[in-house]
Amino acid sequence: MSLIKHILVIAELDDEGIKPSAYETVHAARLLADSFNGQVYVFCFGFGSPDKAKQLFNYGADRVQVLNNPLYNTISLDLGLIAIEPQIIKDKPYAIFFPATTHGKEFAASLSAKLNVSLATDCVAIQAGKDNQIIVRRPVYAGKALLNLTLNGPGPHILSLRQNTFRGPGPDFSRVGDIELLDISVSNDQRVLKVREVVKEIGSQLDITEARVVVSGGLGMQQSKNFKLLEDLAQVLQGAVGASRPVVDNGWRKYSNQVGQTGRTIQPDLYIACGISGAVQHLAGMSSAKCIVAINKDANAPIFSVADYGIVGDALAIVPYLTEEFRRVLAS
Ligand SMILES: Cc1cc2nc3c(=O)[nH]c(=O)nc-3n(C[C@H](O)[C@H](O)[C@H](O)COP(=O)(O)OP(=O)(O)OC[C@H]3O[C@@H](n4cnc5c(N)ncnc54)[C@H](O)[C@@H]3O)c2cc1C
Repeated sequence: MSLIKHILVIAELDDEGIKPSAYETVHAARLLADSFNGQVYVFCFGFGSPDKAKQLFNYGADRVQVLNNPLYNTISLDLGLIAIEPQIIKDKPYAIFFPATTHGKEFAASLSAKLNVSLATDCVAIQAGKDNQIIVRRPVYAGKALLNLTLNGPGPHILSLRQNTFRGPGPDFSRVGDIELLDISVSNDQRVLKVREVVKEIGSQLDITEARVVVSGGLGMQQSKNFKLLEDLAQVLQGAVGASRPVVDNGWRKYSNQVGQTGRTIQPDLYIACGISGAVQHLAGMSSAKCIVAINKDANAPIFSVADYGIVGDALAIVPYLTEEFRRVLAS
């Protein structure tokens, strides 16, 4: 058992490196750990280039472990639990932080059920309370209200952290360390799930949960081919394209683009809503964006009630104009 109180962060690693959400999660863990002179340990799921995980030290990790088994090339729930559970039982972390990614949410929920400990999902603020408590804030009722929650007891307390919420000041290159490779053997009968094939989307764009700029389209874009206008704007702004649910239901965009209650929750620096009315289920996924720009031809559309900047007009005419202007300004 570790005598040092520590927070365990679960990061995702693949051939492209560490997912950006892991840096934020490590940063948030660092802040909490500093409040009790604790440490931040990181455990990387996946199997990729271990050297890429070294950057986690720059963001506040004290120890980084990477799995040394090609079985972990694909992240799967059962294999992940096989790897992580013994570490938790051995090290007894005070808290376990997951980024609220698709994998992170799944692992956090399964682990809390397996260990029979508390879970707070989609946290947007975290602080230390008295007597080992952790106080977290998380949205409820599809983002319409925020709940302050106090986690008591010995833990480990499991938290998933909303992406794009805990960005720190950036890397500190004076913080360095060595990666520990962890050999995990998995017998055939331990494996419930076997991943036969992983099909990656060809030419897939930036993930909307990771993009700092999201240009999103609703039914007001009128037809699938008009999303090319949004792709052009997103490309100039180095962002991703999002969509409302009916757009996805119509097959104009993929489900991974859907923003809202039954889609993704995002918090980019800039969200540009084009031809989106602003139904409450859509707002649940994007209303905490740092800056919201709405383009809608109906001046009474509800989206304008959450927008920082509103443009009343035809998105099909305004978006190409914005693209050209941004291109010109950014080039200069
Ligand atoms: C349980 C449940 C879950 C749901 N989950 C989600 C979810 O996750 N995400 C989601 O988005 N929705 C969700 N919905 C659906 C939601 O209620 C709305 O129906 C949906 O968000 C509306 O999509 P929209 O804004 O694209 O379309 P509309 O509401 O039809 O709005 C289109 C807008 O485009 C404007 N417009 C039209 N032409 C132009 C033009 N040329 N230029 C500019 N503006 C134009 C119109 O004025 C209008 O405001 C859910 C609903 C339910 C019941």
